[in-house]
Amino acid sequence: MSFDIAALRGAYPALAEQVHGRSLIYLDNAATAQMPLCVAQAVQGLELRRGNVHRGIHALSEECTQAYEDARATVANFLGASPDQIQFTSGTTDAVNRVADALAATLKPGDRIAVTRMEHHSNFVPWQQLCQKTGAEFCILPLTPQGDLDLEAAQELLSPGVKLVAAHSSNVLGTVNDIHALARLTHAAGGALFVDGAQGICHEPVDVAALDCDYYAFSGHKLGGPFGIGALFCRLPLPPARYGGGMVDQVLDLTTTFGPAPLMWEAGTPNVSGAVGLARALEFRRNLPEGWQDWEDGLLERLEQGLGELERVRILGRPRHRSGCLSFTVEGASPFDLAVLLDQLGIAVRSGHHCAQPLLRWLGVEYTL
Ligand code: PLP
Repeated sequence: MSFDIAALRGAYPALAEQVHGRSLIYLDNAATAQMPLCVAQAVQGLELRRGNVHRGIHALSEECTQAYEDARATVANFLGASPDQIQFTSGTTDAVNRVADALAATLKPGDRIAVTRMEHHSNFVPWQQLCQKTGAEFCILPLTPQGDLDLEAAQELLSPGVKLVAAHSSNVLGTVNDIHALARLTHAAGGALFVDGAQGICHEPVDVAALDCDYYAFSGHKLGGPFGIGALFCRLPLPPARYGGGMVDQVLDLTTTFGPAPLMWEAGTPNVSGAVGLARALEFRRNLPEGWQDWEDGLLERLEQGLGELERVRILGRPRHRSGCLSFTVEGASPFDLAVLLDQLGIAVRSGHHCAQPLLRWLGVEYTL
């Protein structure tokens, strides 16, 4: 291979750990990835010399404000967006809920929100609940038997009336959706496209302009960043969904005017060290040695091939473009028992419904590995 995998592994302290007396083999990255040491150091550096952001004018406050806004610029740059289109969130789930809350006032019976059958609960339940509250129709875009989004069927369902479509790459099947094609269909129907990038951003370069999406959300902890931080790109103007200090212009007795984006989206003291850690994690990824994607694709291919040779193993889906992860079951064995056995060997995998019950129901399984 064209790069030094041992040196790369060396950047992650957790990969030198032992579990049950075995060297850790960590395959649960779709849930949470390990953190490079440089990210932990960036977080600690900020926490040990800190002041509140956008409030004080003393040196520490100004330093932190600068670090926080530099972090925003790094996120914007990573997504091909501008900083005033980026708000920090606590993660993808928070981002979906923020957009859903902000849209609540504009939805009415007769409007429609569509999600794909492969969504994580975080990009499914908030939209489903929003439709229940507003009387809008909730619609699920079907998949092909291979586990790709059925774009032809989607086209029919995305007739005028659709306000928002939510889609992503799957944390269960590894399917990478053709976001650009979906954006075309959504926009032709007059809707906006929300992309849950929690998985996609970990495996593919992202350019929100090229994808042509209206919202893009992701979580830091899946990229080697800290827990409790993520970001949301908004191309469209979005009213604030949270209120409080730091986001206002003038507060009168009965009314309030809000500051400009992105500050109007960030009420209260934000997760400053999280933002700085997230930016460091993105820089780390930007500087990964060339060839990392081939390496990763090679591992996935090897896994798929190896599992495919085993009797009683069922790999779920055969999407046209699979990236980063796959799921399987073993006839006659519980995924939980298998996960426990693998754990005894120092191998961390995810077992369960992966927060994607609508997808697993459609696949005819309750749990997978
Ligand atoms: N969307 C997808 C595709 C995910 O895989 C996950 C996490 O597993 C989420 C959303 C939720 O992310 P978080 O828990 O960081 O908000």
